[in-house]
Amino acid sequence: MENTKNMENTEVAEATEAAETADDRTYIVTEMCPHCMNEIEMRWNTDTEGFKAFCPVCGKRLMLCDECLHAEDSIGCDYDSFTDSCRHNPRTYRAGSKVRVIGLPEEKPGGSPYTSTESRGKITECLGDGVYLVEMLDGESIIIREENLV
Ligand SMILES: [Zn+2]
Ligand SMILES: [Zn+2]
Repeated sequence: MENTKNMENTEVAEATEAAETADDRTYIVTEMCPHCMNEIEMRWNTDTEGFKAFCPVCGKRLMLCDECLHAEDSIGCDYDSFTDSCRHNPRTYRAGSKVRVIGLPEEKPGGSPYTSTESRGKITECLGDGVYLVEMLDGESIIIREENLV
């Protein structure tokens, strides 16, 4: 991957504050990888590399978004690679958006039960009023309200 060249400077931990100046947007990033739970540390320049990085331990994508990195008592960015979002980069819900569903409805509007066991899917249609038709990964289409999407 193109980003592995940035992993060589991990021993400069004491530079955490010094590296964060207004002109030089190079950060020493220390955070818990949400995928493998290892604490990782790396030097990152958000101007040239953007906010998307890869965990040097497990290789999965990390989102290093500005808000997550600089919030008071930040615990790092909880970037979700399935929905391509984090707590500061919330999903926009439109046709084609990948979503996680919480609280799957049990019954179709007609009363017969849904059978999907998936909690992930993709919006196929916006029905209006915060209601969406979501095709789950196992193929079943379910009508879901926006408050049940994450
Ligand atoms: Zn990892
Ligand atoms: Zn974030």
